[in-house]
Amino acid sequence: SVPLSFFGGIGAASKQGILVKGSNYLEALNAVDTVAFDKTGTLTKGQFAVTDVLPQANVTQDQLLQLAASVEQNSTHPIAASILAAYPGELLPVQDATEQAGHGLRATVNGQTVIVGNAKALNAANVTFIKPDAPGTVIYVAVANHYWGCVVIADEPKNDANRAIQLLNQRGIQQTVMLTGDNHTVGTTIAKQLQMTNVYTDLLPADKVKIVEQLTTPAHHRHKKVAFVGDGINDTPVLATADVGFAMGGLGSDAAVEAADIVIMGDEPSKVAQAMQIAKRTRQIVI
Ligand code: ADP
Ligand code: MG
Repeated sequence: SVPLSFFGGIGAASKQGILVKGSNYLEALNAVDTVAFDKTGTLTKGQFAVTDVLPQANVTQDQLLQLAASVEQNSTHPIAASILAAYPGELLPVQDATEQAGHGLRATVNGQTVIVGNAKALNAANVTFIKPDAPGTVIYVAVANHYWGCVVIADEPKNDANRAIQLLNQRGIQQTVMLTGDNHTVGTTIAKQLQMTNVYTDLLPADKVKIVEQLTTPAHHRHKKVAFVGDGINDTPVLATADVGFAMGGLGSDAAVEAADIVIMGDEPSKVAQAMQIAKRTRQIVI
């Protein structure tokens, strides 16, 4: 049977915009000592500004951005919205677009195969490219396996992200970990800015699952539990793997809301610490 006060905990949480799917998750939260976060849209705003458009010879900036934006029409990733916002002009007709999580998109434009994605996506297609000497998330473009250039975009931490990490530190959480599909430069810069303890970059969704599995292994972890916090884009597998999965409801997909144990309405990652505070108070009432 479930102690009545756990329902009190769930009620208190829901008043703060924190929807807990069962009293067992509040109990589990009391044992969490590691909190892992997705980056894009979770710790950062997920609204990228285009900072550089770097075409190869014989391609103009306008052509490069137009092609990237045309292909990105087929994605719901925050990167897509950001590139589309930077190109207000007319878009090209695009066929057969497919998206691969953690890579980017592939589509047909004017009868030619176009790739719009990260270094992994171009490497997988054996396209040689030049890594720009600019800090930021880099979106490469290739046409018929020839490198066309890249678009560099920059995201910034949410105002609430610093507070989220600080509150967890104050609660005595041992590790705050960033798990990101973005590149090493961007991941380490933002993790350092937020004073997180650990950062893993260039990850595919399956890599995130593996790392959380390692963190949750009892031998490694002395029966402590691991929470994962994500915005729902590409996060469904890792949400299901963590002992406690948090989906940020504001941007989250239906699948992520379903896979999560706790749904945070709105976009504040500090709600994780707030949920822990409620869980602790609830336990004190039980005892
Ligand atoms: P994060 O772990 O930071 O939330 P994702 O797993 O959603 O990131 O994406 C990882 C990386 O995959 C992005 O940084 C980007 O390089 C690439 N990517 C994902 N979706 C797209 C897209 N629609 N267009 C271009 N690149 C993409
Ligand atoms: Mg993400």
